[in-house]
Amino acid sequence: MRKLIAGNWKMNGSLAANEALVKAMLDGLGSAQPAADMALCVSAPYLAQLQGLLHDSPIAWGAQDVSAHEQGAYTGEVSAAMLRDFGCRYAIVGHSERRQYHAENDVTVAHKAQRALAAGVTPIVCVGETLAEREADQTELVVKRQLAAVIHVVAHCTSEIVVAYEPVWAIGTGKTATPEQAQQVHAVLRAQIAAATQHPERVHILYGGSMNAANAASLLAQPDIDGGLIGGASLKAADFLQIVGAAR
Ligand code: PEP
Repeated sequence: MRKLIAGNWKMNGSLAANEALVKAMLDGLGSAQPAADMALCVSAPYLAQLQGLLHDSPIAWGAQDVSAHEQGAYTGEVSAAMLRDFGCRYAIVGHSERRQYHAENDVTVAHKAQRALAAGVTPIVCVGETLAEREADQTELVVKRQLAAVIHVVAHCTSEIVVAYEPVWAIGTGKTATPEQAQQVHAVLRAQIAAATQHPERVHILYGGSMNAANAASLLAQPDIDGGLIGGASLKAADFLQIVGAAR
């Protein structure tokens, strides 16, 4: 499977900074075919800009969230159909920052994934344990519960999701799961996906959590790590491109 390297810019950027960053990435790629599929997930106001900058490029774009509702009186929400209008290929759902700061639970995340799929947008479903959960030996239990909620709702569309294993203790902290720790959880998720769909080979399982230019190659070499969801390092063109290069 071709690997997928997706950037999550989080709440960063400006029209000027985005243009410079995208230009540096495209210049860095040149005319060569990237070693992996690439995507950038940006704040909703910048989707039109990214569509303009990336439409003829090998880099796809996406959102960092999507509403669990189809349309209507949900002030401040952005629907999956709106994302599709701006050419989004992906929408991150269930990022730990949304679970933590916006009280999103497994059921909400599952409905977001379903809305995205119904609009032709691929949800990047984030799962991951906190440090306390890891220390209490609950990692497997937690990630399986989070993924099971999504599988239960999206059912026969399970083969169309992307999963991102993002240990909460590794996000933005500079602490990365070791390749072995990550692989162990990815294997559990792979087995869960395999039991839920006839086409498990279609599902990318990304690792996210302080992946950077220095540690990407060893993480991406693991048999069940199909790519990365990259926060901080996706804000630096050279670092992001090195991670893509490590995905060969
Ligand atoms: C993320 O926000 O999804 C992420 C993985 O962040 P970072 O790479 O900065 O840890």
